[in-house]
Amino acid sequence: MNNSYKLYINGEWVDSESGERISVINPSTGNVIAEVPKGTKADVDHAVDAARDAFDKGSWAYMPPSERAKIFFKLADIIESKLEEYAKMETMISGKSIKQSTSYDIPYTVDNIRFYAGASRLLDGKAMNEYVPEGTSSIRRDPIGVVSVITPWNYPLMEVIWRAVPAMLTGNTVVAKPASYTPLTTLMLAKDLENAGMPKGVFNVITGTGKEVGEYLAGHPKVDMIAFTGSTEVGKNLMAIGSETLKKVSLELGGKAPFIVFNDADVQAAVQGAVVGGLVNNGEDCANSTRYYVHKSIYEKFVNELTAELKKVRIGDTLDPETDMGPLVSSSHRERVEWYINKGIEEGGKLVYGGKRPNIKGHEGGFYLEPTVIETENQKSVIVQEEIFGPVWTVLSFETYDEAIEKANDVIYGLGASVWTKDVQKAVKATKDLKFATVWVNEHVVVPSEMPWPSYKQSGTGASLSTYGLEEYTYLKHVYFDISGKQRKSWYYQIYGQK
Ligand code: NAP
Repeated sequence: MNNSYKLYINGEWVDSESGERISVINPSTGNVIAEVPKGTKADVDHAVDAARDAFDKGSWAYMPPSERAKIFFKLADIIESKLEEYAKMETMISGKSIKQSTSYDIPYTVDNIRFYAGASRLLDGKAMNEYVPEGTSSIRRDPIGVVSVITPWNYPLMEVIWRAVPAMLTGNTVVAKPASYTPLTTLMLAKDLENAGMPKGVFNVITGTGKEVGEYLAGHPKVDMIAFTGSTEVGKNLMAIGSETLKKVSLELGGKAPFIVFNDADVQAAVQGAVVGGLVNNGEDCANSTRYYVHKSIYEKFVNELTAELKKVRIGDTLDPETDMGPLVSSSHRERVEWYINKGIEEGGKLVYGGKRPNIKGHEGGFYLEPTVIETENQKSVIVQEEIFGPVWTVLSFETYDEAIEKANDVIYGLGASVWTKDVQKAVKATKDLKFATVWVNEHVVVPSEMPWPSYKQSGTGASLSTYGLEEYTYLKHVYFDISGKQRKSWYYQIYGQK
């Protein structure tokens, strides 16, 4: 493995002006596996200038969509042909199991690229029409310009694909800043975009800290749009920064998904869904189920079966294909998650499963934590209200439909939610009453490329995936053609003369 990386600016691999480097650590062992440049503001200036020139002076924004799409179909083929290399790298930087990277993250990401590439040729507006008799109106969708793409560590490759690919396919140019824990697959992506024939300057990568490089990049006067995926706290800050030059700001932020189990649900199906919905990506997925609201009549059965199923989850070496669950991303993140467990117990919660650091032979330096279940009736406890972003779940009981919906909606977030019931009317009503942008019925987490991934409330603005995810990176333009040929149109009397 090449373990010393560079910045990617204007099609060249260059060192940072600072000469300083950031270590990349494998969360499964705690060992340093690579180093990347610690970018500076001067590096950001160079990358933004390259993206600016590629947008303003290059041919990218004027290329037919089919030509741009060809590059991305090629990129998808390249990533697919290197699936194992990408999966291994993704696992080694993020701590997710190789099973997940190989069978889900990378193939799904390839599908996302292919979907976006095809759909970019179909961006639509209303049909051209004469909405007033003397003129014909039409809709255009134009690229916005230079897009800053700032991504988190939980799905390192997928998140940069979700942002940068639709941005570029609609004619924009990009400067990407990956999370400091997980920059390596974004740098691999830059290399493979180059292999796929991407013109210089369209895609650039700056590694470095969020506070220095991310903030400066987002606020850069030559940047037109901020596309950010990460925490709600940083998202709010970037929205304020973007307001100075009224940049378009697209935010995909935190979540705290409820999982409601009604008394008529298939409890076994709900339990299986709960284990997977809560543990996918080691409990570090913005859509993970984290708050289980279970009807009083089946509450005990649900908790007993849930804890029994959790015992079957194999925690271990992330590169072992039989491992189900890996470590958390970092030592400091594990400490943060543990703080929440203690706080939840302090606020009246009862620990019914997990909560400890498991001992994984040969991986004593890894950042492992057991899946953790806490029973509580304290809806206002921090572990019910705040995003923990780890494998820690609360279970609460309810008696009525209204109570379940009210408690489920009682958080600042609005990303994903699920309901488990066999009653169709109840399910349909709940999909309307839940103030979340995605609602699953008898399922949790699934998002096909064709469907949007939007946000309500403080989970963000805008959407990824689907054609909405492409429109996100376009300006909407109305174009009006006079068809009357008259010098004095019928409505000009409003300014002078009579009808
Ligand atoms: P984060 O701390 O907000 O960081 C995200 C990115 O922003 C990283 O690249 C980070 O750089 C950078 N950053 C940090 N501070 C910044 C600042 N002041 N200005 C500009 N950039 C800054 O989030 P995270 O811990 O990486 O990711 C977890 C969060 O992402 C969770 O809240 C999760 O729910 C959310 N998420 C949401 C979605 C969604 O679709 N809604 C998807 C995935 C993740 P450094 O790494 O250098 O700090």
